[in-house]
Amino acid sequence: MYDVIIIGGGITGSSIAYEFSKYNLKVAMVEASNDVGASTTKANSGIVHAGYDPKPGTLMAKLNVEGSKMYKELAPKFNVHYSNIGSLVIGKKSDEDKILELYNRGLENGVSDMSILRGEEIFKLEPNLNKDITIALLAKSAAVVSPWEMCLAFSENAVRNGVELFLSFKVTNVTKVNDYFTVESKDKVLKTKFVINCAGVYADEIYNMVLKDQKGFKIVPVKGDYYLLDKEEGKLVNHIIFQTPSSLGKGVLVSKTCHGNLIVGPNAKEIMDKEDVGVDQESLDYIKKMAKNTLENINYRNNIRNFAGLRAKILDYDDFLIGDSLVSGFINFAGIKSPGLSAAPAFGPYAKRILMFLGLPFELNNKFKITPLPKFFKDMTKEEIDSKIKENELYGRIICRCETVSEGEIVDSLKRPIPALSIDAIKRRCNAGMGRCQGGFCGPKILEIMTRELNLEPKDILQDKEGTNIVLDYTKGGIHHEGI
Ligand SMILES: Cc1cc2nc3c(=O)[nH]c(=O)nc-3n(C[C@H](O)[C@H](O)[C@H](O)COP(=O)(O)OP(=O)(O)OC[C@H]3O[C@@H](n4cnc5c(N)ncnc54)[C@H](O)[C@@H]3O)c2cc1C
Repeated sequence: MYDVIIIGGGITGSSIAYEFSKYNLKVAMVEASNDVGASTTKANSGIVHAGYDPKPGTLMAKLNVEGSKMYKELAPKFNVHYSNIGSLVIGKKSDEDKILELYNRGLENGVSDMSILRGEEIFKLEPNLNKDITIALLAKSAAVVSPWEMCLAFSENAVRNGVELFLSFKVTNVTKVNDYFTVESKDKVLKTKFVINCAGVYADEIYNMVLKDQKGFKIVPVKGDYYLLDKEEGKLVNHIIFQTPSSLGKGVLVSKTCHGNLIVGPNAKEIMDKEDVGVDQESLDYIKKMAKNTLENINYRNNIRNFAGLRAKILDYDDFLIGDSLVSGFINFAGIKSPGLSAAPAFGPYAKRILMFLGLPFELNNKFKITPLPKFFKDMTKEEIDSKIKENELYGRIICRCETVSEGEIVDSLKRPIPALSIDAIKRRCNAGMGRCQGGFCGPKILEIMTRELNLEPKDILQDKEGTNIVLDYTKGGIHHEGI
């Protein structure tokens, strides 16, 4: 019997798993996919918002501000790419009132280090912005982070400190039986005292499983598309640049990413299909048009990838929905839309308070310790590189030339506490394939390395989730052709 089962291994579930691993608890995290952080957590703007945007008094405001402060300390401890570049909300003369309102809201939410800039002060920081911009809210505490690295750091540390992770465990039913719950997949049944529902856009369906005939909430996915451009374009801005928000939300942003690329997006489109992360031309055209209100000179020929993510918006409810539910002991962390990534570090301590209130004892795990993520080859000093190559000669062979990723890092990704099971999972662990060619050159080499290291056939290697096999069959001249 588990004390707690966390459903969903995105940043929300992983942050809670990490916090709970500090205590002597029997905890499992179950994830439908073959990796953690492979849903909305990997497809967003990667911004740690300062916290001036959410309505004061909401959970979004409270946890955003707390989480954003926690990143500053946690990201370096985890060795996660994080850069405190600050954000600007820019506006024209007609936006002045809205920007001042944001500033005041920030003060009310407890955001420090904000100031209002005007005229030349703005262009000193951002010379490439359009010249009709007259006012900006500078929030120095805003930052950019690698969301999937943060998720991996939380979940790998949770696993190292005793949390059991079940991948490819798609929950099909949750039932309350007397004073415990059963959590079922197609081939396993686990028992637990408490359940924490962190299933992203599927949190409503998971809740409905335990509610049986009672009425829950409904999640509507809101898709946001992006352009991700080469690092050459990343030099255009120094901060995260937001436009003045409107009734449609925070609008299209232009920002440097934590790896130095330029990200432009997102739009916001309500959709029906919770699996639809396809990018469409209409959305991309809209993003380009809106981004022109910030900068005129983005060269989209340097675009290296388009992608989309799904916000988990609860119908008719504009806050995170967090807490014990109609079925006591079943805790929802639902409606975790933006600023969910920013708030994530604060989710663990918040979940702890809820479960303490419900009577779960939290006794310290004296063996708990933080293990940072391995340093990327490209971030190492010359001395570190030399010593790494001496230790393992595979570090001397560069496989991904765009991002300077060595064979040693790729092989190590297959042996991590949560081993990579696909080419995309390797990308999330060591950046291979993240650069200008997007895996065009290194992809086949990584496939070869995986077959060699895992003793698999090329046909078994996945690009991403189950069913995304890259090689479907062998050509008739190939070495596997019958008779050769
Ligand atoms: C376009 C866009 C831009 C955003 N930008 C920002 C930003 O810049 N800053 C910010 O703070 N926030 C941002 N967000 C919000 C942020 O990305 C989310 O709040 C966060 O990623 C939510 O994480 P999660 O773990 O709750 O959900 P997810 O990452 O979706 O994780 C849920 C997990 O549950 C699993 N699951 C689902 N069903 C089951 C089942 N039946 N059994 C087992 N597992 C299951 C899924 O496989 C998934 O891994 C953005 C979101 C979007 C879409």
